[in-house]
Amino acid sequence: MEQKKALIVGGGLVGALWAVFLAKRGYVVDVYERRGDMRAAGYSGGRSINLAMSHRGWRAVEKAGILEELRKVAIPMHGRMMHSPTGELTFQQYGKEGEAIYSVSRGGLNLELLRIADNFEHVRFHFHQKCNGIDPEQGIAHFEHTLTGELTTVKSPLIFGTDGAFSAVRASLQNRPRFNYSQSYLDYGYKELSIPPGPEGFRMEAHALHIWPRGNFMLIALPNMDRSFTCTLFMPFDGEISFESLQTDEQVAAFFNRFFADAVPLMPGLLEDFRENPTSALATVRCSPWHVADRVLLLGDAAHAIVPFFGQGMNAGFEDCTLLDELLTAHGERWEEVISRFSRERAPDADAIADLALQNFIEMRDLVADPGFLLRKRIAATLAERYPEEFMPMYSMVSFSHIPYREALRAGQEQEVLLARIAAAPGIENNIEQHPDVDRLFREWKAEMTV
Ligand SMILES: Cc1cc2nc3c(=O)[nH]c(=O)nc-3n(C[C@H](O)[C@H](O)[C@H](O)COP(=O)(O)OP(=O)(O)OC[C@H]3O[C@@H](n4cnc5c(N)ncnc54)[C@H](O)[C@@H]3O)c2cc1C
Repeated sequence: MEQKKALIVGGGLVGALWAVFLAKRGYVVDVYERRGDMRAAGYSGGRSINLAMSHRGWRAVEKAGILEELRKVAIPMHGRMMHSPTGELTFQQYGKEGEAIYSVSRGGLNLELLRIADNFEHVRFHFHQKCNGIDPEQGIAHFEHTLTGELTTVKSPLIFGTDGAFSAVRASLQNRPRFNYSQSYLDYGYKELSIPPGPEGFRMEAHALHIWPRGNFMLIALPNMDRSFTCTLFMPFDGEISFESLQTDEQVAAFFNRFFADAVPLMPGLLEDFRENPTSALATVRCSPWHVADRVLLLGDAAHAIVPFFGQGMNAGFEDCTLLDELLTAHGERWEEVISRFSRERAPDADAIADLALQNFIEMRDLVADPGFLLRKRIAATLAERYPEEFMPMYSMVSFSHIPYREALRAGQEQEVLLARIAAAPGIENNIEQHPDVDRLFREWKAEMTV
């Protein structure tokens, strides 16, 4: 029998995970990655960019058989810890008791996935190989060695583009007729900063995602295994309060002392971090179709890059792998059926999570400090507890379930109507539990929804 073969362009998070899925199905997989081998560089597992991994991500790594290994290096965050301008802390639980999203190191996770994929006899990694484009009709990909400049052409019956938000594979598809494409940047950028470990360990509560919401900008912090926190400042590029307005050490120090005073003593390297670390941009990329015939398919950020405010980019990319694998099982690996179906059926969910991520930016930077919003959250939590079979808050649908994103978006919009009605009931803020209107309004809303 002829050996089944696939080419993966991009050995990042999604590419490395997809290599594992294909290897388990008996494919010979060649992964071409632009960067060098991170194992050779000796990644230490310490401070790095960290990502929040939630249900969809865990489901995929479980299917790949690496859940237990990753759980050991993931830190559960049970809720948001809000820091007010005067340093008061408010904790807001994300889901039900015991539910959490997990802080994982991006480098550590990628390394682990590379290691696991490489353990399969038929997975081969080719590092320092930058894809310069593909010929989708011929099933050919063009690479350039980033150190020697040597050019290579690789032919494969299956090409997966997992080369991230600025995908070269996608760029090749853009030349095709009727290819839809949009890329929109936020006026906001981000900068990574750091809170190192203290003498006693973590310098703040470890099992929370810390947020300093300040209206038009915000700081967040996620815990790392080495007891440090990676912080990210999100702020407009230009304007009165912006990255552009913070040019000197004095300006940066004054800004942090004014808006994040409780964080300043925890950040001894603040000024250096601010000076040295780049200010990066945030984009949403939408495109369709994600495939060409039964040969080429985009996955992960290459197909759907989103802004990071729902912590779902990687989770969505990992869920791509789960769903594609399920389709392969359902259709007996008939790629002509599976690829087009996946591309068609998954795209509306990618659009929905792109919209949800943009909405959540407003929630995080602005609304988490708004009493009306906090009241609606409390009402939602009460309803979830009282009617566990009938009411799942939108955040939980996205983070703690695998309900398709488009359904979560729709249900969330419907829930907003109910929450606004209950929030308007006189005296509700002091008495959600006992208030007589809660059940009545819930039942009325439920009846409207089922009409
Ligand atoms: C600030 C920030 C915070 C985030 N937080 C979260 C979070 O909390 N939770 C979450 O789920 N997601 C988060 N994300 C999103 C997440 O990082 C991405 O969705 C995820 O990395 C996508 O994985 P990927 O494999 O598709 O792409 P990438 O991780 O970008 O990997 C692409 C790979 O392809 C390689 N490559 C690129 N171009 C080429 C080429 N031409 N030839 C060959 N190789 C190439 C790259 O070197 C890389 O290894 C965040 C993103 C940002 C920016």
